[in-house]
Amino acid sequence: MSGWLDAIQAVEALEVGHFDDELVRAMQARGAQPAGSDATRINFYVPTFKAFASSEIKGCGKSAWPAISITGSSCKLACDHCKAKLLESMIAAPTPEALWRVVNEQIESGAQGMLLSGGSNHRDEVEYDPFLPVVRRIKDAFPAFKIAIHTALVDRDKAQRIEASGVDAAMLDIIGAQDTVQQVYHLRRPVADFEASLAALTETSLKVVPHIVVGLHYGRLLGEWNALEMIARHRPAALVLVVIMPIYAPAHRPFEVPSSREIGRFFMDTRAALPDLPVLLGCARPPGRAKVEIDVYAVLAGLNGIAHPSDGTVELAARVGRDVRVTPACCSIALGEEVMALDDGHDALAVDVREFVRREAERPRGGGKLRDIPVVTL
Ligand code: SF4
Repeated sequence: MSGWLDAIQAVEALEVGHFDDELVRAMQARGAQPAGSDATRINFYVPTFKAFASSEIKGCGKSAWPAISITGSSCKLACDHCKAKLLESMIAAPTPEALWRVVNEQIESGAQGMLLSGGSNHRDEVEYDPFLPVVRRIKDAFPAFKIAIHTALVDRDKAQRIEASGVDAAMLDIIGAQDTVQQVYHLRRPVADFEASLAALTETSLKVVPHIVVGLHYGRLLGEWNALEMIARHRPAALVLVVIMPIYAPAHRPFEVPSSREIGRFFMDTRAALPDLPVLLGCARPPGRAKVEIDVYAVLAGLNGIAHPSDGTVELAARVGRDVRVTPACCSIALGEEVMALDDGHDALAVDVREFVRREAERPRGGGKLRDIPVVTL
């Protein structure tokens, strides 16, 4: 096998990135080890082939997977990286009646599922209880309609009430550093409560998908490795990694852009710590050069899926011998759609990588040396 550093250099679109030679070699050494039958498969989630015209997300029209907030845009925690702004783009359903109405409207417009979310109280709990009877009613009336929920922190009873409501998948952020909990989340609860919530959820039949926000401590990696250990002690269905995008951070508490090299090392450690767990890179990550570097490390570290890959990433995956699949989907990881499909995750499209790369090359700022790509059997 030729060197992965050579493979990176062969992809013109990756020229903007600065890659750590030692880290890439370490990833190649790990990647060369024997693994399971699907170990070379990687799935890219792109809005549509046609709209895959730049690293900007275009073509994300009306979602089949709307995100709905039961608190509208209000949140008591106002974490430093978010300040409740994440909720503003969601559809507000602040009462159980509104939730029933909104969901019916969305189903009439073609929605196949939803992400149910909301702002937290001061204990990082989303107060779902009054809404759970409506969730049950939705699932009874529309059994095929899938529901993923951002649980935030829960105890065992609440996890069971959520399960009983018929929710399909539960997602929560796992934070591994006490300083991050207190400083970024303004939360006075121990890190152990995050693991206890994960434990309570994984004891149910819910499909549980923890998230780690890499760089959550003002752009530094701090509790991420501890979060990995916490997750490794339980049996979730998958892990989603996202990289901090602190666009809403207040001026007096700025976030740095995390080091791509450190993120890459964390990806490699994640793969080693959770060898059998699907690990997906969600759409949130810093733009520009950092995104290119992060995406390359995600491919080389052996992550299972990447949402909205940077230009050149698909070509690189083919060059290093990955079995490339594409799912035409928009923000699907964030909304739970891919999480829901994990059991039957083999329905992603096998793509003709040469054709995919050719389209990239035809774009004005794309390009690539297309000869001699070792395209996998499709
Ligand atoms: S709890 Fe969630 S919605 Fe509220 S500010 Fe923090 S990240 Fe944003």
